Amino acid sequence: MAKSKIEKELTMERKNASLLMDDAEIQKAEEFCKGYMEFMASAKTEREINIYAIEKAKKAGFKEFHFGDKLKAGDKIYYDNRGKSVILAVIGSEPISKGVNLTAAHIDSPRLDLKENPLYESDEIALFKTHYYGGIKKYQWTTVPLSLHGVIFKQNGEKVVVNIGEDEGDPVFVVSDLLPHLAQDQMKRSSSDLIKGEELNIIVGSYCMKDDGINKRVKTNILRILNEKYGIVEKDLLSAELEAVPAYKPKEIGFDRSMIGAYGHDDKVCAYPELMAILDVKKPKKTAVAILTDKEETGSDGNTGLASSYLKYFLEDIAETLGSNGRTVMSNSRCLSADVNSAFDPTFPEVFERNNSSFLNYGVVVTKFTGHRGKGGTSDANAEYVAEIHHLLDNEKVIWQNGELGRVDLGGGGTVAMFMANLNIDTIDVGVPVLAMHAPFEIVSKLDTYMAYKAFYVFQK
Ligand code: MN
Ligand code: MN
Repeated sequence: MAKSKIEKELTMERKNASLLMDDAEIQKAEEFCKGYMEFMASAKTEREINIYAIEKAKKAGFKEFHFGDKLKAGDKIYYDNRGKSVILAVIGSEPISKGVNLTAAHIDSPRLDLKENPLYESDEIALFKTHYYGGIKKYQWTTVPLSLHGVIFKQNGEKVVVNIGEDEGDPVFVVSDLLPHLAQDQMKRSSSDLIKGEELNIIVGSYCMKDDGINKRVKTNILRILNEKYGIVEKDLLSAELEAVPAYKPKEIGFDRSMIGAYGHDDKVCAYPELMAILDVKKPKKTAVAILTDKEETGSDGNTGLASSYLKYFLEDIAETLGSNGRTVMSNSRCLSADVNSAFDPTFPEVFERNNSSFLNYGVVVTKFTGHRGKGGTSDANAEYVAEIHHLLDNEKVIWQNGELGRVDLGGGGTVAMFMANLNIDTIDVGVPVLAMHAPFEIVSKLDTYMAYKAFYVFQK
């Protein structure tokens, strides 16, 4: 039944973006997502994205910033935090004391990290011990082809970069699972223990070395190969950071190709639009700052995560350089915490409350608060700031929706929003809805991804 005049006037209506966008804009979204899929195929870990972002930034005229460097309006700078987090900024024409516009996404994703001493041989198979990183359903990570990314520092200090399993001709690695025929006992375990942490062992070899006098023939053979390929010995693995991630490339999903499946949409589907947005910002009034940070998936602790002071120090440094101070700048600043939210899943409707869920293709999600139970662990954006962001997105024709993570008391989660807000910065979560978040193959819609870019761009331009 058609809505009456009064109902139309008074009620809020949500609409699918594919009904609201014209063909030309849908085409723009398609092109943007082509770039996103190429990025997702080429950079999978925080270190690789850090390099990708800095390369793109340099090409766009960004220069590395050191405290004391003179700055003026229009200058483009970046700060590289240990190769794992990066801050990009375009200096605005307004005095910096009036505050800056920040966007903050994270570039780490759930994965399997190798333990310090990972390599062992058991029953003539060589394996790597792992320690999972971030919140995962452990059973999802078995029988998935894995690639290995990271760095090894040799005893002499030399750095070796590892990236194996991504190229066509590369081998991959895998965690095995029990055949159903013998899984009677395993299937009785609770699903959080269906695969236990110590069972996430990655198979890396099975040939025996023929030479005489070798005890561990398979393990020694793997060490021989690692020595030939990387010049390392077993002890060097103690000073390494090696991450196993799904080896496959992103793919379009659906007969209509409306969605993208990939490893690590959380949070690269916000990080990439955020990066593209700041590269497109030309002469902003307010200084535009884009943060690509590490360690969100483990709670943001550590000196490359946003619970540390690296962002605060950076803002203090540019504030002083431009004749103000960090405290004033931060207190007048505003932030979009650019992280994903859970999209309504028609297969599991019971965990969502429909009126307050985000849906695929309904645009970028604006989330006032996250957290657990009675809003524990959230910054809960002030209504004044919520209204300001809603007006901005409406005025700039960005398609957006509201959305919470899921039903009250069913679980919950957080983002970097609270670390930004704790610096006395107005902060709200704005990001892309994701299906199957934290799985080895996550799902997003192309139109939402493009709307994230548009939101970050209009916020900072
Ligand atoms: Mn996230
Ligand atoms: Mn996450």
